[in-house]
Amino acid sequence: MLKYQMYIGGEFVNAAGGATYLSINPWNTEPFAEVPKASASDAEKAIAATRKAFDDGPWPRMSGAERSALIGKVAERIKERMKDLASLEAQDSGGTITKCGADTHLAQRQMGYFAEQAKLYNAEPHAIEGLQREGRSFSYEVREPIGVCAQIIPWNFPLLMAVWKLGPALATGNCVILKPATDTPVNALELAKIFDEVGFPPGVVNVISGPSGAIGDVLTSHKDVDKIAFTGSTEVGRHIMGKAAESLKKVTLECGGKSANIVLPDADWDIAVDGSIFASFYHQGQACESGTRLLLSLDDYDGFVAQLVAKVTAMRLGDPMDKATQIGPVMSERQMSTVLDYIEIGKKEGATLACGGNRATTGALANGYFVEPTVFTDVTNDMRIAQEEIFGPVLCVLKYDDVDDAVRIANDSIFGLGGGVWSKDLDAAKAIAARLRTGTVWINEWHMLSERAQFGGYKQSGIGREFGSDGLNEYTEVKTLYVDDAKTRDAKPWYDMLVARPKEGA
Ligand code: NAP
Ligand code: MG
Repeated sequence: MLKYQMYIGGEFVNAAGGATYLSINPWNTEPFAEVPKASASDAEKAIAATRKAFDDGPWPRMSGAERSALIGKVAERIKERMKDLASLEAQDSGGTITKCGADTHLAQRQMGYFAEQAKLYNAEPHAIEGLQREGRSFSYEVREPIGVCAQIIPWNFPLLMAVWKLGPALATGNCVILKPATDTPVNALELAKIFDEVGFPPGVVNVISGPSGAIGDVLTSHKDVDKIAFTGSTEVGRHIMGKAAESLKKVTLECGGKSANIVLPDADWDIAVDGSIFASFYHQGQACESGTRLLLSLDDYDGFVAQLVAKVTAMRLGDPMDKATQIGPVMSERQMSTVLDYIEIGKKEGATLACGGNRATTGALANGYFVEPTVFTDVTNDMRIAQEEIFGPVLCVLKYDDVDDAVRIANDSIFGLGGGVWSKDLDAAKAIAARLRTGTVWINEWHMLSERAQFGGYKQSGIGREFGSDGLNEYTEVKTLYVDDAKTRDAKPWYDMLVARPKEGA
């Protein structure tokens, strides 16, 4: 079994009192790694180390080019270790090796992007256009790091989520404490080793593992934390925002979704059927922007569903380490029971179970947390299975009358993370995209994200953006600098107004 330590103040350390817990491999439910179980005092120690690094250390004061060079080394090291990080991730999280391989590839590319962007974030002020007045005043602005960032990530994309958090925070000069999800700590702790190896100054990056019950509130309410960046459920996002409100900490939240996938009557079914499967069943449906509500027109409904169900039923469940596996286990026993509970709710609400619906127990699958890929038809948008995020391999199929009806159903949700339209008529699809209240819309595609494009949620899917210039700027404060160059006091705009004419006899 693998054994890990946490990374605090540039040192690999155990939790106070040596407490540990086991991370489970969802494929066989065997312990995979033993990791420190941080307590409140460990979290406080990590915050103190981060504060010190930010207030007194070199990182926030380095040039963008210097920071870029070190972040670039992290990207190179991830690239060298792609295979091994993918294998660790598959065993820690139950993601298939194909998915985890794609993630490690993206992780090194995205870290490379943040290294490149770091060059743009320097302490030099730049002139504000239209506010330069020769012989009078000059105005500048400068983007500065916010300070100590507590970064809390979920279990579905452990390595990528760590990169999405660490990359922009570090590129802009912040110092961070990263807390991975309890169930998937391994790659965050591997990243800690990489940051140490490439020579990051102590305390700039700290990684602590352990259940949020003990350390969550410390991270989100401590006076020395300036910003919280969170990815996870909307429910926990609300709680964290409440905690942050007490001291007005900056927050960015990437939360849940229930994205609508609209197939227009002219869509190419060969692509749209497979694309809808990719949209909803990729990584066992455990992606925040999955297309979990499939909207079909009345005329297409039966034919499309028949093709979809035939393909979903034929999907290959198996060992995540096997390249042929299409569907791996869901991430934990708790997640499996949540998903199975929602399937029961769907049946009780009157949806039709078109395929799946049970724990999968054939052969070796019985040892893991497998749920059959499940399709519900005759779903109406007022059902809980259409409104709540299930976060498992469960697709809900709904009917629409016309485009207005499809848009109405799509937007009738507390979430607004993703959405999609399948059609040969790109103008018609773009017109629908313009009406969807969500942060990302795919046309004839799904799940494609780029580090150069802003990503985030409308409504209760989140606050702020990740990636792109907005994503980086979320980690900055903006300082305005006003410089007056007037050579005489009566050139001051306020001189005449306030001090030029004192009262008689004064
Ligand atoms: P979660 O229960 O909200 O947990 C997410 C993270 O928050 C974990 O590290 C968790 O730690 C921590 N946490 C839980 N309660 C906390 C508290 N009171 N204070 C501080 N931290 C706390 O979500 P999850 O079940 O791991 O992940 C699935 C959810 O994430 C889904 O809703 C999904 O949509 C969302 N997600 C969104 C995005 C996006 O970019 N929008 C991406 C991926 C996932 P513990 O593990 O120790 O409890
Ligand atoms: Mg695990």
